Amino acid sequence: MTYDRLVCANCAAPVAEGRCPVCRANRERLQQEGPFGGMSPVMLLALLVALIATLAMFAAYRTA
Ligand SMILES: [Zn+2]
Repeated sequence: MTYDRLVCANCAAPVAEGRCPVCRANRERLQQEGPFGGMSPVMLLALLVALIATLAMFAAYRTA
């Protein structure tokens, strides 16, 4: 998610400029989230479990 065009509700300036504490807090939070910021850790974990289960099923079919 990009925050370049996000406007702060507190100071009405772009969040990326970090003019007020609200801007800076939002900017830090968005930067920490990284490329998977739109996904929750629970969602990522569920995807990982589903992937492992699928691979395990493939392995079982191939050996049977
Ligand atoms: Zn602000």
